[in-house]
This record gives sequence, structure tokens and C-alpha cells, in this order.
Amino acid sequence: MSGFAYYNGEFYPLDGLSIPITNRAFYFGDAVYEVFLGVGEAVYQCEEHISRLFSNLRKLSIPLLYNKEEITALISHTMKKSGIGESLVYLQVSRCAKERRHSALNTAHDLLITVSPYSLKPSEERISLITHDDLRYYYCDIKTVNLLPSVIASTEAEKAKADEAVLHRGDTVTECAHSNIAILKGNRLLTHPANNLILPGITRKNLLKACVKERVPFEERPFTVSEMMEADEIIVTSTTRAGRLVGKIDGKSVGGRATDCGESLCKILYEQFAQFKQQNLTL
Ligand code: PMP
Repeated sequence: MSGFAYYNGEFYPLDGLSIPITNRAFYFGDAVYEVFLGVGEAVYQCEEHISRLFSNLRKLSIPLLYNKEEITALISHTMKKSGIGESLVYLQVSRCAKERRHSALNTAHDLLITVSPYSLKPSEERISLITHDDLRYYYCDIKTVNLLPSVIASTEAEKAKADEAVLHRGDTVTECAHSNIAILKGNRLLTHPANNLILPGITRKNLLKACVKERVPFEERPFTVSEMMEADEIIVTSTTRAGRLVGKIDGKSVGGRATDCGESLCKILYEQFAQFKQQNLTL
């Protein structure tokens, strides 16, 4: 994918950037990241993403030389320099040390920002999932690059020609490999509580706000695989897809019994971005 990058004070074409071996993301997956949608120099829901980033940095005591305003300005500057209109911005904060040593004490800040072309499009097409054991650890609330279980589940999904893998710990559905998941049952929305077993998605939060707007009662409580299979609708949310209804899980038809409600909620998520895009494309 073509694109543009900032790395520790310098700008590069994405395919011309090399990262030194001192970057601890390479040896230890010792890095947190964020993925943003960009339009021109503006970042969609910047404050929410930056807050999550800083909360993750604090949880892992990863040093960052910038405060929230400075990092936001640097992201915008990198987007401007990229010349890319609609983009996906990836930001990774790692730390570096001369030698390979497990302890993270006395390590230094290491910052990567990449900007690549990406355009979020509205879609009413239902997506398909496979079910997969959630084999991750207990820090799922921290957005780190320790993504091997997600890579394995996503690869299995792609092999099965599905769009995503929905993860379950025993019988309890947690989230998807790279999205959150919610179900509609009897006009009530259920989604796993935002604890250490899921990533607190920005789009998940938007979905709950959309429920308030549409007067759909919601509950943040775990649900089972069979509750999901029998749900009226299943909604998958993420920054890169907004909200999408699910049509198939493991090849079986699911949902389709509360289409109007499901579609309205997904529409609100996309429209919110579309409005932001409209405001910022003209600048
Ligand atoms: N869960 C996981 C495991 C993710 O990786 C992501 C982000 N791709 C999400 C949920 C969705 O989060 P957001 O809505 O903030 O993109």
C-alpha cells in the first residue's frame, strides 16, 4: 500500500522507511497503537482515540515526549505533508533500548505515524463471520501490537471466505478479531462489558450513543454463542467499517429479524462520519 510516514522526527515515503532493531515492538510486541480515519488534515473522533492512546500508555508506562495537543498537531502535520485526501492513519508508540532485555526500565520513546489512502464507504451488505476460540490473554483492553491470536483467527476467517472471526471464551462471546460485536434481542441491544476481555472500541461507544438516540434499551452484559446465533440481529463495529449487520456465521444464516432497527443504528454510525467528511473535505 502506498503511503507516507513519520518516524522519530523524520518523514519518509512509506516504502522507504526502515525501523531499527532497537524498536522493542520487534522483539517483544512492546508497543501500543491507534488507527484513525482521516480527511485532509482532520482526524475523525481524534479526542476519543488520543484519550484511549494516553490511557494505554499510562497502563504500560510507555514514555511519549508529546502531550495530547502536541501529538494531535503532529498527526495533522503528517497528514498534510502526505497530500492524501482520505486516509487511514496508524500511530504506534513503542520504546527502544540498545540491547534485547525483557525489562522495559530505562527505555526511550519511539514514535511511528503512517498515512495511507482509505475511504470508508457506506454498505448495507451483510458480512459473514466464523466462530473462533478467544485464545488471547487478559490485557485485551490495551491496544497493543501483541496480535498473534487475532492474526490466527483472521486468517481462519479469510480461509473460510468470511469477513471476520467472532471470538468466544468458553461459551461467552467477547468480541471479534478486530472489531466489537453486539446483538439485538427483543428490541434490546446486548454487548460485552468494557472490561479487560475486550477492547473498548470507539465505534462500540458510538453504537451505544446511537441506541440512546433511537430509544433502543441496551445492556453491557456478556452473551453466549447460542444467544448470538438466535439473535434478531448481530452488529459488528470498528473504525474501518463503522457498523455492519451480520448475515452468516459459520455458514449458517443469522439475524434478519430486526432489520429496520439494525440498519438505523448502522446508518447513524456511518452518517456521523459522512458529516465529518463533508465538513473537512471543503477546507
Ligand atoms: N476490538 C478489537 C480487538 C480491535 O482490534 C478493534 C479495532 N480494530 C476494535 C474492537 C474496534 O475498535 P474501534 O471501534 O475503536 O476501531
